[in-house]
Amino acid sequence: MDERAKTCFAYKSGKCRILDINRCEGSGCGFCKTEEQVMQERAESLAIIEAMEPMHRDAIDEKYFKGQIAAGFYKKGTA
Ligand code: SF4
Repeated sequence: MDERAKTCFAYKSGKCRILDINRCEGSGCGFCKTEEQVMQERAESLAIIEAMEPMHRDAIDEKYFKGQIAAGFYKKGTA
């Protein structure tokens, strides 16, 4: 196991928590990201969703977030 993969947000005790595989594939994995990268990407995605027209934003919120964006569940820095 290389050091980069050990810093992956999904790495836990030699296993991957997000992919349906038995062992972490290492830094060659296309999903390897740090927790900070994941938080940054989530914040960027949330900003894009929040900037949409209300009709589209609300539809995405209901379908994928169960209305939690409108309810304020995803606040800046916690996404
Ligand atoms: S398989 Fe990929 S996503 Fe899963 S823990 Fe390893 S590097 Fe991260």
